[in-house]
Amino acid sequence: MTNNIIKKDGRVYILGSKNISDLYIGSTTLTIKQRKALHKSNHKLKKNKCRSAIVIDAGDWYMIEIEACPCTTKWELQQRERFHILNTPNAVNNNTPTNCKTQKEYHQQYKKQNADKIKQYNQQYNKQNADKIKSNHQQYYQKNVDKLNAQSRQYNKQNADKIKAQARIKDTCPNCGTTHRHDGKRKHQRTKTCTKIVDTEVNAVMKSMLDIICMD
Ligand SMILES: [Zn+2]
Repeated sequence: MTNNIIKKDGRVYILGSKNISDLYIGSTTLTIKQRKALHKSNHKLKKNKCRSAIVIDAGDWYMIEIEACPCTTKWELQQRERFHILNTPNAVNNNTPTNCKTQKEYHQQYKKQNADKIKQYNQQYNKQNADKIKSNHQQYYQKNVDKLNAQSRQYNKQNADKIKAQARIKDTCPNCGTTHRHDGKRKHQRTKTCTKIVDTEVNAVMKSMLDIICMD
């Protein structure tokens, strides 16, 4: 089950056996019939590492819904599951789900516990959807150009002193090696001193390329 539930039709259930008094308590957004089938097939495939196996192994097992829990998130459903586990002395469950008091806390805990998984997923998603993301960004920019410009103007206004201080920092030009003010970079790179050197370098490269071509 993922973090966010799309279905709002959750339920807490008991899995019991006519042969033992132990009970397993679970929650699901599937129907009881669907969830029962899943328990059955997982148990058959020995995939059932969860404690429900204790009850299923005892034979004559059944599943009944004990509370219908309309919910929008897994956290809400787990809160109810936790309540029933804590109030059922013969529950075989090892883990009580979510001890978080609030949904925010639950999300933070989930993020922390699954940081690597989330990072990996995001990286893969970004890679697979690079074109879509790029076009979304472009669309977003086009739709919100006025808002973004206003935000940027506000930022500049609020951080005027910081920006001014940064602008005064001396930068060394990567083309000609002279120093100039940070905010004067564009202006400087259009000056004759700078372009002359760039031109000279470009000419030198062109000349060496010509030399190579003429060698044949
Ligand atoms: Zn320069």
